[in-house]
Amino acid sequence: MEMKHSAIFEEMIKLTPLCSGTLREQYFSCGKKNCRCQDNETPKLHGPYYVWARLVGGRRVSRTLRPGREADNVKEGIQNYRRFQDLICELLRQEENQVLSPERSANEVSKKNSRKRYRKP
Ligand SMILES: [Zn+2]
Repeated sequence: MEMKHSAIFEEMIKLTPLCSGTLREQYFSCGKKNCRCQDNETPKLHGPYYVWARLVGGRRVSRTLRPGREADNVKEGIQNYRRFQDLICELLRQEENQVLSPERSANEVSKKNSRKRYRKP
């Protein structure tokens, strides 16, 4: 069943925090002699840290976060933003269906279906 516009917007309002980009878990060695991370046989790397990378004004910016509230917020924000984008896609699909006359949008659907049929072996 199709989502109502009001339901889409209501859900969007609740999606906070919102964060773009990706969050990657990372472990590293510090390079200090005699540190546990330098052990030749069983090195224990430092971490986990989280690297949050995103685009800000077209430039890639990354921040390193410790586990805890900030990393949790970003993790939640990224999930929320993905849902937000799904909702925008749904909204756009509904809106675009309405800009064409019914005959033409019906036409578009049948073209799409016939293309699918050709792909089948
Ligand atoms: Zn170390």
